[in-house]
Amino acid sequence: MQTPLSPFWQRRWLVLFTVALTLLLGFAFTVLTSYAVSHKEIREGILSTELPLTSDNIYSEIQKDLVRPILISSMMARDTFVRDWAIGGEHDVSRMNRYLQEVSTHYNTFNSFFVSDASHNYYYPKGVLKKIEEKQARDAWYFRVRNMQEAYEINVDYDQAHQDRLAIFINYRVFDYDNHFIGATGVGLAADNVTDLISTYQKRYGREIYFVDTAGRVTMAGESVHTVKPGTQLQNVEGLKTILAAALANKQKSFEYRQDGRLHLLNVRYISELKWYLFVAKETDSAFSNIRHALFINLAICLLVTVIVLVVFIRGFGRYQRQLEALATTDPLTKLYNRRAYAQHLNRSMREGKRSGSPLSLVMMDLDHFKQFNDTHGHNKGDTLLQQVAQTLQNNLRTTDMICRWGGEEFSVILKDSPLQQATEVAEKLRQAITEECGAGVTASFGVAQLDLGGPDASAESLLGRADAALYAAKQAGRNCVKQT
Ligand code: GH3
Ligand code: MG
Ligand code: MG
Repeated sequence: MQTPLSPFWQRRWLVLFTVALTLLLGFAFTVLTSYAVSHKEIREGILSTELPLTSDNIYSEIQKDLVRPILISSMMARDTFVRDWAIGGEHDVSRMNRYLQEVSTHYNTFNSFFVSDASHNYYYPKGVLKKIEEKQARDAWYFRVRNMQEAYEINVDYDQAHQDRLAIFINYRVFDYDNHFIGATGVGLAADNVTDLISTYQKRYGREIYFVDTAGRVTMAGESVHTVKPGTQLQNVEGLKTILAAALANKQKSFEYRQDGRLHLLNVRYISELKWYLFVAKETDSAFSNIRHALFINLAICLLVTVIVLVVFIRGFGRYQRQLEALATTDPLTKLYNRRAYAQHLNRSMREGKRSGSPLSLVMMDLDHFKQFNDTHGHNKGDTLLQQVAQTLQNNLRTTDMICRWGGEEFSVILKDSPLQQATEVAEKLRQAITEECGAGVTASFGVAQLDLGGPDASAESLLGRADAALYAAKQAGRNCVKQT
């Protein structure tokens, strides 16, 4: 059926598509924007707060652990006893032992030592540990210290005096009063404190914490660092190699790099006392997993809401369309079909009739002297009569017969599977029913015509014209009768 909908609204799927697209785009924009904002906040939180804070904590711990030993070592290197004793020929080893013992106990260091350049003796609190030898890899540190420009170095090494525990040594150069190199002294401390701290942070906060020297080599790392170990050259590590040069060129800076497709955030700080860089890195996947989870849930909710809206829309739209269709095809007074619906129905019935060869007839009906009825009883009574007539027609016809209000007080009925004679009988029945059921003096005239299936008069216009002509004939014949053509 035709409806008075505009072409746009008639294209229901276009409308649905537009609504769905608008909803989805709106939702997606909102959800993705809030995801991006959260992502940015978390990222900035890690970069500007989390990582620097870890770095600060570890730095202050290191300072606590290292600055004091450096001072002690510096004093040992300047100590006139140490220098006098060495220059004087290293007599009475027990004096040196006592001195080193005093340093160890009083300052609570892990180890204290003096290595004489003259004798190559390695003195420690308990005596002479050994003689150092240039070809011994373990003694290489001494020959490095002997040749270096700086006053001291910090070296992470295994302590032979303590079952090879990892220790941080401060190796100070010692000079006589004429500025000739006479040995190395200093203290060693257990690296446990620092490594424990690193390990705790790593485990608790899922960070990778390690120290890197100026050549880009890892010097110390927490136990659970997966990607780097002491000795690892960062130039060879995926992702890190891209930012290494920049990281080593700054006192403190944040970086981002990708490793195994995952984003890592990194804070690098130079620790001048150690001449090392402290690297604190965080793999961000876990940090973002919560908001990513929320993102998927939000997207799913949006999809669900869109689907619900569409379902509601489709149902509402369908109902609205049916109401419009009904309005467009119904006569408001009698609730019969109107002429627009009638024309379509007639065309369809004619096509069916021509296809199946079954006869089709039309009845045209017009109330007699209705003008007069209106004049006598008033227009409202006239309307009531029209409703009554419509009811009478419906009561006396099959449900397959289509009744329509043709206009004014004229009605028409399409009778399928009915030849002219049968249709005339139906009309006669209707005529009698009206006289009996619609009140005193109410009569109607009828014209009946049959569709000419194969002939020249097969058009709807011709059929209607002939029914109209028959009706006219009935009027001419004195009304309240049925005529056929
Ligand atoms: P005839 O027997 O020749 O058909 O006489 P008639 O008076 O019925 O003739 P005509 O067709 O000229 O008059 C139809 C009247 O029906 C005129 C008009 O005022 C009236 N009419 C048309 N539509 C309506 C309506 O919806 N309600 C009412 N109350 N009257 C209507
Ligand atoms: Mg009329
Ligand atoms: Mg009339």
